[in-house]
Amino acid sequence: MGRAALFPVGGAVENLMPRPDYATLFAPLGLEVRLNEPLQRYTAARLGGAADALVVVTSALDLDAAARVCWSEGLPMRILGGGANVLISDQGYRGAILINDAKTVTLEDEGRVIAESGAGLISLTRRCIERGLGGLEWAINVPGTVGGAVVNNAGAHGGDTAGLLWWAEISEPNQPPQHWTADQMGYRYRESALKHRSTPFAVLRAAFHLNPGCDPNTLNAHAEEFSAHRKRTQPPGASLGSMFKNPPGDYAGRLIEAAGLKGTRIGGVVISPLHANFFVNTGGGTASDYYQLIRLAQRTVEAQFGIRLELEVELIGAWDETP
Ligand SMILES: Cc1cc2nc3c(=O)[nH]c(=O)nc-3n(C[C@H](O)[C@H](O)[C@H](O)COP(=O)(O)OP(=O)(O)OC[C@H]3O[C@@H](n4cnc5c(N)ncnc54)[C@H](O)[C@@H]3O)c2cc1C
Repeated sequence: MGRAALFPVGGAVENLMPRPDYATLFAPLGLEVRLNEPLQRYTAARLGGAADALVVVTSALDLDAAARVCWSEGLPMRILGGGANVLISDQGYRGAILINDAKTVTLEDEGRVIAESGAGLISLTRRCIERGLGGLEWAINVPGTVGGAVVNNAGAHGGDTAGLLWWAEISEPNQPPQHWTADQMGYRYRESALKHRSTPFAVLRAAFHLNPGCDPNTLNAHAEEFSAHRKRTQPPGASLGSMFKNPPGDYAGRLIEAAGLKGTRIGGVVISPLHANFFVNTGGGTASDYYQLIRLAQRTVEAQFGIRLELEVELIGAWDETP
């Protein structure tokens, strides 16, 4: 029996299970382990319970090695980049969370950009603009990391990761890392072949093809237009960006607003009065508050318009039911 079988998702039984000796497991890699580490500061919504163990990796090599330790031991594990697209349960996560801080980036004048997966997408965009490499301006305000963007096919203002990816280096158990092309990624709107993959993987690096020789001022002006648009239309503060995917031919925000839910509050979380697809943690909000608002929005929109809103954000940890 694999060790993973000792860690069922949810339920009281897992709390009684002996915890692995994480410090010993990661010691050969020289990686520090924090036990029972609260995850609020690692997520954009600033909430969520504690992880059994949290390990910060600062290179793609360490990310690969740490992931392989978890896989070979059968330990539940999640990689977090910016935590900008995950809602972590108030009960936290029974397993190891790897915080990806591997940030080395190489920019080439010919337009090739190779980034470790923990590189911040916004800072990468700024660097590309300064260097006159065009094509990534849409990402000027998209929080999170290159790894999260590769998994989610992050995109905005008509651009997306799929349109720029050359290859992503993917690590999986029992084989050396492989380069996957954009075709192999099976990209669709905010979806990839990786996103719901049942077998474990880690994105180690990604390479993009950008347009070389652009005027940085022009690129910057373009990016600033996107920023200004975002400031006008999206709320500031702790949130997860869009909660739901836009259904075909419509907008999740428009439907939630039309259902009369703009401004609805549960606990510390409010459906933004500015943009109804943004749920903002106004302080002291919990994952349970978010969850109840998610269910309310789904039920109300479905009852009024017959459309089932599909979550764009991902739920991590134990939940009583999955929306
Ligand atoms: C204010 C705000 C605005 C936003 N606007 C946009 C927008 O315009 N467009 C858009 O597309 N998104 C938007 N988002 C959502 C978010 O920015 C993207 O989904 C982003 O790509 C998430 O990256 P991350 O590093 O934070 O991923 P995380 O939230 O940390 O992780 C997301 C998923 O990817 C997995 N993952 C992350 N890194 C790796 C890795 N290296 N290897 C394997 N798995 C990995 C995680 O395990 C998880 O399953 C917004 C979010 C916020 C908070």
